[in-house]
Amino acid sequence: MERFTVVMRDDEVSLSLGQRIVSHLISENKILDDENPQIVISVGGDGTMLHALHQRMHQIENVLFVGIHTGTLGFFTDYEASEVEDLLEDVVHLPPMTEEVQLLEVRRFNGDSFESLYAINEARVENIIKTQSIDVYIDKEYLETFRGNGLCVSTQIGSTAYNRSLRGAVLLPSIRAMQLTEVAGIHHKLSRSLSTSLVIPENHIIRFESKSYYDSILCYDHLHIRLDGVDAVEFRLCKKAARFARYRPTSFIKRLNNLY
Ligand code: NAP
Ligand code: MN
Repeated sequence: MERFTVVMRDDEVSLSLGQRIVSHLISENKILDDENPQIVISVGGDGTMLHALHQRMHQIENVLFVGIHTGTLGFFTDYEASEVEDLLEDVVHLPPMTEEVQLLEVRRFNGDSFESLYAINEARVENIIKTQSIDVYIDKEYLETFRGNGLCVSTQIGSTAYNRSLRGAVLLPSIRAMQLTEVAGIHHKLSRSLSTSLVIPENHIIRFESKSYYDSILCYDHLHIRLDGVDAVEFRLCKKAARFARYRPTSFIKRLNNLY
């Protein structure tokens, strides 16, 4: 690994750890290259890694990501702050195993034309101003008309994030699936929807149609965009993937146990 860059969370511990990583790798004749790095080292939390991944979306398939956490153990981060020497040793000397994380592709339709966005954790349609009505289709087959604040589509790696706050299930890493979860669904005699979360394997398409997405927001990871004027949104797991450098085995159960 010759060319690297570092993304740091804006706090004292992360910044000083990040500087230490930069100067050590330069002393090992590695090249600090922000334009075209082979590896991106994230120093902070899972949120920091999400920012790093989105910054590199245009070259996501040519870059490896590794994270060191300066808060609690994360799902995107493999090293604790006290293990910075191990991280440096591994990055300099070991060939990494790579773990692929499939991205969620979100298409915003205007008639037949669409724009694609990509998410790592989840994408959700939410309206906090008025009741949002959404006709949900799975592979063009009508499932239900949802009414409420919105709906969330999470990936496996995002299942421990917003999805978990919505009482969605946590999915273990080998499960390649999306999870559809309600945000404050309205359930009474005149309005019914599934209410529990629905796990949908890859190769399926979830489509949200609505007569009006006025005031509705499409949130994807830490980013968002308005949906005014859009008539449908589709979600699918796509071939595009982010690649994490794994230098040592990391237990998902340990990460999960550490979360709560
Ligand atoms: P943020 O402050 O960067 O993140 C919010 C929290 O979610 C942080 O504690 C972050 O961990 C954690 N997180 C992010 N990805 C995770 C994952 N895959 N598994 C477990 N925890 C994860 O917030 P943001 O910039 O607004 O949004 C980024 C992400 O945060 C979103 O994709 C969403 O999933 C999540 N989020 C969750 C809620 C909620 O649960 N109610 C609300 C807003 C956002 P670190 O502290 O390690 O960074
Ligand atoms: Mn965390």
